[in-house]
Amino acid sequence: ATPTSIMVATGRAGELGVLFRRGEALQSLASVAVMAFDKTGTLTEGRPEVTDLVVAPGEEEAAVLALAAAVEARSEHPIARAIVAAASARGLAVAEAERFESVPGFGAVAEVAGRRVAVGSARHLERLGIDPGPLAEAALLLARKGRTPLLVADGDRCVAAIAVADPVKPSAPAALSALRGMGLRIAMVTGDNRKAAEAIAESLGIVDVVAEVPPEGKVEAIAALRSGGRTVAFVGDGLNDAPVLASADVGLAVGTGTDVAIESAEVVLMSGDLRAVVTAVALSRATLRNIG
Ligand code: ADP
Ligand code: MG
Repeated sequence: ATPTSIMVATGRAGELGVLFRRGEALQSLASVAVMAFDKTGTLTEGRPEVTDLVVAPGEEEAAVLALAAAVEARSEHPIARAIVAAASARGLAVAEAERFESVPGFGAVAEVAGRRVAVGSARHLERLGIDPGPLAEAALLLARKGRTPLLVADGDRCVAAIAVADPVKPSAPAALSALRGMGLRIAMVTGDNRKAAEAIAESLGIVDVVAEVPPEGKVEAIAALRSGGRTVAFVGDGLNDAPVLASADVGLAVGTGTDVAIESAEVVLMSGDLRAVVTAVALSRATLRNIG
């Protein structure tokens, strides 16, 4: 590709809401064979809401939700915001948490009124040495419905399962079918619960699903998709997606996402609308054809 043709194409892309931060990305995108997507905030709206709250015997819903919200008030994760919003919708008083720690891809933990409180996936609790107990079953049932299950531990005891649901973006089905029509293979790579991820993937016709992976696991998943010399692009939005955006052959960041994701990507989609991915691929192919 000549510098001029790349300049013209990147200019046109900009008008269509696709920012090519590096001209080379325009060329690598034309030969992409696999388009891998993060789930939360990329294929879905990224604005999850609490849908279910199941408490252990003897626990009170309001008290448990307030405890979880105290921890999550310190986190930036969309799930955390959903839990805080649910507590505030019920008018609950939320305590100040101390010694907050975020465990990317797993959850959060902090001290609330002198107790250690953890909120996150079943694996998050297990890593902290807490047995999820009977609530693991409740979490599994919620996940089968495509909701993300979280567990709340108060000290060493698992006291609640909370589910959050995040609707699929309206632009997703059309964008994915257009990409398939262009011969691309679609994959989902997510840190979310496997059952929840599979339910969303199935609704979008995605069969290649890698779930329950921490940020470094996303990098490994891309390396696996690359086997046989395939060019792999990744579309993501989160703080967790920064490493994988940098390691993919082409990283595309959703512009509504975190600054870290945007800085790690070669292509920035100005809106959250996934049809911009189709535009980006179509433009890069057209540019290379013109100079072919
Ligand atoms: P995704 O890849 O779908 O964007 P993440 O890697 O951000 O997901 O998170 C993966 C999983 O880790 C979540 O589904 C959730 O179970 C757990 N998790 C991460 N951060 C938090 C948090 N602050 N509160 C509760 N759960 C969390
Ligand atoms: Mg995300």
